[in-house]
Amino acid sequence: MQSFSYERAADIDDALRLAGQPGARFIGGGTNLLDLVKGGVEQPLRLIDITRLALGDIVELADGGVRIGALASNSATADHPLIRQRFPLLSQALLAGASAQLRNMATVGGNLMQRTRCYYFYDTAFNMCNKRVPGSGCAAKEGYNRIHAIFGASEQCIAVNPSDMSVALAALDAVVHARGPQGERAIAFGDFHRLPGDTPENDTTLAPGELITAIDLPASPFAAHSHYLKVRDRASYAFALVSVAAAVEMRDGLVRSVRLALGGVAHKPWRASEAESALLGRALDDVSMADAAALAVRGAHGYAHNEFKIELARRAVIRALRKAGQVRPAGGKA
Ligand code: SF4
Repeated sequence: MQSFSYERAADIDDALRLAGQPGARFIGGGTNLLDLVKGGVEQPLRLIDITRLALGDIVELADGGVRIGALASNSATADHPLIRQRFPLLSQALLAGASAQLRNMATVGGNLMQRTRCYYFYDTAFNMCNKRVPGSGCAAKEGYNRIHAIFGASEQCIAVNPSDMSVALAALDAVVHARGPQGERAIAFGDFHRLPGDTPENDTTLAPGELITAIDLPASPFAAHSHYLKVRDRASYAFALVSVAAAVEMRDGLVRSVRLALGGVAHKPWRASEAESALLGRALDDVSMADAAALAVRGAHGYAHNEFKIELARRAVIRALRKAGQVRPAGGKA
């Protein structure tokens, strides 16, 4: 492991100043970054500890939405009454991710930044990985690609984003707040993660030195009808083969608005916009759900070992919609 310096930031300005040094990386819970550093996948020269910054609060917004500080832990966020009552979809997604111990350490800001679990990215014994070593090739394309993308892949990379939380945030139209050398900005969630294109080394649209400060959830009509479905190889502590965040607003038995996002299928959480449109104004029944699911996987492309994900995703969309359509019990339990 390459040696690095460690500095603790006193406040946000201090963190941004320290991050301006060559080879600097922010570290919060460190649940992903430390693994990557120990494995030689990432080689920062400086780690800037941001855990003492005042960015851990979860507060109500004037419009009925909620602001989650970037350093709120995954556990605290999943268990917070505002999240459980108004955004149970997010609570479910967080609780579906990792182990309790990891959720206690991991922050929501760090969760946004976690990197793909592509085997060839993590194992430095493989020379070919454009995400780890730009220009080296992609071992997964002709290798073992069971967990890889069926949407939005490029010649350079077919990896997927591993975050459960991000799938729910995509469905909930979250907004990421960041602060950097150029000031503050708000990033629509759909613009935060990116497809690999020719630069798979970049997972997000954050600029160098930018720090995530908060995530806003706009007021949502979906609390009564939402469901996060995660399909994985074992019941816990596994990444999604396919996941679906489904949220439906019903009125007089018809779908008034709907959000569908898929995880485990692309380099970013994948919004199924055509499927959403197909459900509007219809009853949530077997026919409409099947129509939506067919549209959700239209254009999917499999590789040698992951063709099964296309049918899996189609069925998962139907199951998630069916669960979302059921009325949640009162009390806001996730
Ligand atoms: Fe690397 Fe992406 Fe190819 Fe995996 S899929 S080997 S992360 S370039």
